Amino acid sequence: MNTQNKTVEMEACPYKKKCGSCSYQGVPYKEQLQKKQKQVAKLLKPYGQVRPILGMENPYYYRNKVHAVFGRDRKGNIISGTYQANSHKIVNIDDCQIEDKISGEIIRYIRGLLKSFKIRVYDEDNGSGLLRHVLVRRGFTSDQIMVVLVLASPILPSKNNFVKALRKQYPQISTVVLNVNDRHTSMVLGERNIVLYGKGYIEDTLCGCVFRISPQSFYQVNPKQTEVLYGEAIRMAGLTKKERVIDAYCGIGTIGMIAASSAKEVIGVELNEAAVRDARTNAKRNGINNIHFYQGDAGKFMVSMAERQEKADVVLMDPPRAGSDEAFLSSVVKLSPDRVVYVSCNPETLARDLKYLTENGYRVKEIQPVDMFCFSEHVETVVLMSKIQK
Ligand code: SAH
Repeated sequence: MNTQNKTVEMEACPYKKKCGSCSYQGVPYKEQLQKKQKQVAKLLKPYGQVRPILGMENPYYYRNKVHAVFGRDRKGNIISGTYQANSHKIVNIDDCQIEDKISGEIIRYIRGLLKSFKIRVYDEDNGSGLLRHVLVRRGFTSDQIMVVLVLASPILPSKNNFVKALRKQYPQISTVVLNVNDRHTSMVLGERNIVLYGKGYIEDTLCGCVFRISPQSFYQVNPKQTEVLYGEAIRMAGLTKKERVIDAYCGIGTIGMIAASSAKEVIGVELNEAAVRDARTNAKRNGINNIHFYQGDAGKFMVSMAERQEKADVVLMDPPRAGSDEAFLSSVVKLSPDRVVYVSCNPETLARDLKYLTENGYRVKEIQPVDMFCFSEHVETVVLMSKIQK
């Protein structure tokens, strides 16, 4: 396994018992990687040799997206942090080992500002108060920071002075957005955004492409390992500028856009409308003209491509945890691309889908796990399959 010998271990997190986020807290990083390696190997062994997992040299403070829920403790003090496991009780957090440091500091600075600005925190039980959550997103490459204040109403008293105070302490904050969430819901963000300062979004660079990140946009939370993962996926795709590539379950178009400069044409397909809008904006922003995005179910899209007897040389696929479906996989077999690169966040559904593809004309060539979510049980795996030549 790479890099873990150099890893410096921090003391176990003091919130370990109460906070429900990190199931591998207290497990040395080297051991975490071994556990993940074992898990992937157990499930995927029938299909081929599993390469050593690619871990992080420094597995701490890797998350570029930091979220805190606000409330009060029993004594009435304002607290901010995360919910206790399986509960709506808030654990006050002063330092989280996996969240970006400066983003965490900004959240705690906001906690300190509330009293002097007379901003009341929201009370879930009776619906009184204003501030529900704060979300901070930082572009690790661009160093642009977005602060999203989630309020129960669209009106923030002294909003200009509040933004001024924030920016005075943290001049790196490039945009502040007020998000209105007036519903009784466990969703963090409501639909309406009001920009209080800046453009309302930040940008960040990943594998040489620039991506726009709005409050609601999906963007991988560990950008460093995302570059490792996508780098592996693109390498496995073996592109030579001649290929027609499908990027299925493409989200905001990241993998497809990174592949575009090495391919003839890329077709992205994604169910979520907002993500497709972001994908189109991102392609324009980067001057990429050989990529097109379609909104819809990836399975149905592939079935219609297969029915029209269209051609694809490489299929890149990155489905959600539930994996792909038979409509999609059977159409892959019909389209008969030379290579399929499967990026998976769930080795169990990956194993199920590999069974189908290997029983229908494909052979697994490479299996590479990547650790994207240190201290959690999740493991990403990228698999290269090639068509068995008849
Ligand atoms: N490849 C992207 C996103 C992967 S997450 C990235 O790396 O950033 C999986 C994506 O699949 C999500 O964006 C989700 O909206 C999308 N999705 C879920 N079900 C889908 C379906 N049936 N058809 C198409 N896309 C789907």
